[in-house]
Amino acid sequence: MNERAPHAPLGDPPGGLIYLDSAASTALRPEVLEAMLPFMTAEYANPSAHHEHGRRAHDALEGARDTVAEVLGALVEELIFTSGGTESINTAIKGVAFAQAEAGVGRHIVTTEIEHHAVLHSMQFLERFDFEVELLPVDEYGRVTPEQVAAAVRPDTALVSVAYANNEVGTVQPLAEIVRAVRERAQALGRRVPFHTDAVQVPNSHSLDVDALGVDLLSLSGHKFGGPKGTGLLYLRRGVPFLELLSGGGQERQRRSGTENVPGVVGMATALRLAQSERAAFVERTSMLRDRLLAAVRAACPEARLNGHPTERLPHHLHVCFSDLEGETLVNELDALGIACSAGAACTSATWEPSHVLLAMGVPLDLAIGSLRMSLWPSLTEEQIDYVARQLPGAVQRVRGAALPAI
Ligand code: PLP
Repeated sequence: MNERAPHAPLGDPPGGLIYLDSAASTALRPEVLEAMLPFMTAEYANPSAHHEHGRRAHDALEGARDTVAEVLGALVEELIFTSGGTESINTAIKGVAFAQAEAGVGRHIVTTEIEHHAVLHSMQFLERFDFEVELLPVDEYGRVTPEQVAAAVRPDTALVSVAYANNEVGTVQPLAEIVRAVRERAQALGRRVPFHTDAVQVPNSHSLDVDALGVDLLSLSGHKFGGPKGTGLLYLRRGVPFLELLSGGGQERQRRSGTENVPGVVGMATALRLAQSERAAFVERTSMLRDRLLAAVRAACPEARLNGHPTERLPHHLHVCFSDLEGETLVNELDALGIACSAGAACTSATWEPSHVLLAMGVPLDLAIGSLRMSLWPSLTEEQIDYVARQLPGAVQRVRGAALPAI
């Protein structure tokens, strides 16, 4: 951890800490906290309880389910509340894979090389149970094509899983087209192959209409869109083969046992409704701030490489690589200037593990270690963005002198 610099070289950050890490987590919205508070205080009963207090908790839970169903265009029985994106993804992938294997459908699973570790490590887990996982390569922008995904589908394919948008570089996939191509290919084989998407990064900017997307399973995480941590959602289309991961008291229609997190669910539903209704304003504001920051980065550091697709990308994500430096050192330097962002790659104390996403996109190793992700939020001011733009070139120069890690 760095000491906070007593005086940032070009002035102090306006408005306190400048938070450019919304892809990692977001602040709980005040409206969300207000909706949650009664269920953290007076309304604490178990929603399965057969008394007045329990019924009120149950009504709150089901009211939240109605809200989410409306936002997604889903049926209430197609929603499973979980503890976060990781649990939703594990539940989706393992739940469908084991059900398909049990039914004798097959053990082949298709996904991409740039998925979040919640997906990739779930796949590795399944490989220990004789599943065959096919990792599709991506192009230089981190995209797969509908034809490429469809071509991977075989008679024994149990599941396809492709993230809607990548959490490191912000590239958005042509998801509806991919789903359509997969469906047509499966139909040609006389099959229906379940399609899961990790949609954790998109609720602030993209529609989650499950029928328009055509997906069978969709995973969300509450704290990425102004909701509470420890909350998540799995959309599971009616009729999709599924075995539950958590067995017990039979909550969530036998698909996810355990006493429901009533305040969390209420908060997540409130946040999801707000995020989806404010998408247009979010996109307009964050893409303007992002373009302002990108222009400044390009002017000051022309050699910086923008990663991800130039246009098909999340509006609030900016991901760049600098040569001759280590991303984590730059993050520490910026932290000391009151700017919070992320290197976007896993680092252990002794050695670097370069980002699997950047390597899959063909970014050279020496550039991949110098990565910086800045993810924005509408409440940031132009003044704060300009402060970051002023500080960044100096910070880059200073850390360029530091020793590079062993790779
Ligand atoms: N998938 C993506 C794309 C993510 O960005 C994240 C979190 O960073 C996750 C899954 C996991 O979500 P959580 O950490 O909330 O379980």
